[in-house]
Amino acid sequence: MSSFFAVTHTFKAPVETNSASFWAWMSTVDKAAEQEKHIAAGFYNHSFMPTGKTGTIICIWEAKFEVEAGALQAYLDTWTNGFLNQDIKRIDVQLSGGPPFPKHFTSPAADVKIINLINEKIAADEIFVAFEYYPPRTETGVTNLLNRCELMATQDPMYSDVTWGAGGSTSDLTVELCKKMQHRYDMIANMHLTCTNMEESKVDEALAVCKEYGINNIVALRGDPPAGQDKWEATDGGFTCGLDLVRYIRKGYGDYFGISVAGYPEGHPNVLHEVKDKSTLSASELTRLVENADGMFVCSDEDYEKEMAYLKEKVDAGADFIITQMFFDVEVFFKFCDDCKERGIMCPVMPGIMLIQAYGGFKRMTSLCKSRVPQSVVDAMEGVKDSSDDVKAYGMKFGTEVCQALIAKGHKGLHLYTLNQEKVTFGVMEALGIKK
Ligand SMILES: Cc1cc2nc3c(=O)[nH]c(=O)nc-3n(C[C@H](O)[C@H](O)[C@H](O)COP(=O)(O)OP(=O)(O)OC[C@H]3O[C@@H](n4cnc5c(N)ncnc54)[C@H](O)[C@@H]3O)c2cc1C
Repeated sequence: MSSFFAVTHTFKAPVETNSASFWAWMSTVDKAAEQEKHIAAGFYNHSFMPTGKTGTIICIWEAKFEVEAGALQAYLDTWTNGFLNQDIKRIDVQLSGGPPFPKHFTSPAADVKIINLINEKIAADEIFVAFEYYPPRTETGVTNLLNRCELMATQDPMYSDVTWGAGGSTSDLTVELCKKMQHRYDMIANMHLTCTNMEESKVDEALAVCKEYGINNIVALRGDPPAGQDKWEATDGGFTCGLDLVRYIRKGYGDYFGISVAGYPEGHPNVLHEVKDKSTLSASELTRLVENADGMFVCSDEDYEKEMAYLKEKVDAGADFIITQMFFDVEVFFKFCDDCKERGIMCPVMPGIMLIQAYGGFKRMTSLCKSRVPQSVVDAMEGVKDSSDDVKAYGMKFGTEVCQALIAKGHKGLHLYTLNQEKVTFGVMEALGIKK
């Protein structure tokens, strides 16, 4: 993605002498070679409009992503050989309704729809990965993440998700990270966008920036409540659920954005209720039963049907594919996929694979999301919990087994929750034989 600048050049005094020298110099210049020089420096001259031999010259310049007006000023001061002054103004492409000329500098990751890529891979019977990141809390964390992105981009993930902080707490950073992923590292960003504390105008602002930067893919979510708040509440003039957001984006933006939505193989944590006596559960409820230190929980068959009906509404409203909540029991995921098909939800379902990297994080996340964790995983984690290296080694082993089971069942896409780390992610890919 690039920026456009309107540049007004005026001749320096003495105008007659400088303009004569300038035009004499211009008559000797090889214009194509000059443009090549500009491009090598990160600039492109779209138009050169002199208003007379001694008059102003009005130009439109494009500068590469992250090249600002100061750099263009310095470049033009040198290039115009001291004959001209330049007044440089950034063009507001949102106000103008788009760039004044077709972009010269762009990224192969811009303006791409993920669903088309997914369908191509499925048709070609090829395995693919996607990486998910969250916005770090500190500047150092951001720098580290960007370095990791550079490294992880070498693996050609099909797309890279960036989550939207609970309550919109990191929304600007989410957008910034997506911009950088797409235009620095050519990674296709799948930007999460939630309804928490977001009235329509804020959603439109975020989507306008996405359009400007060719970020074409949005994960439309309700969102978690902001920190310190238990219950999710809709903002005045805002949205009440993920479905609302999907409808809003499709109504206002047509097919411009690719949209994905969240799916919950065990049911959304809010609809899981506590179980005192397992013998009261149906056979299908038993397949979803969550047992952990907090107790036993299940999404009842009745609630599960409501969940599936609602998920279908999100897909029918325009979601292209589903990304699931992390799961640790592949059978729950397989059943969820079968249930989707049986209920007419035919879009791709990307399995959300949590790569275990730390004991504490694993305990926290599985309790928060009320994930069903097979006893073998509980036991293995208890056995390695005192060594962070052993936890990571187990994380790689378990992640590999999950992916192998998915691949064996014909799933082509692996959506890896990386927790902003490459070690376990790369370890799993290596073990699967798909690391480049
Ligand atoms: C893949 C994935 C990515 C995520 N990324 C983020 C993120 O970036 N930032 C963040 O804050 N959180 C994120 N979350 C967490 C998510 O925001 C929470 O789980 C949130 O509580 C629900 O979001 P949703 O989009 O699934 O909500 P919704 O689609 O609104 O659904 C939430 C629940 O309400 C029920 N429901 C809502 N409306 C209706 C209706 N009209 N009829 C019937 N049932 C209804 C649904 O069945 C479901 O149980 C993510 C979750 C997943 C699985």
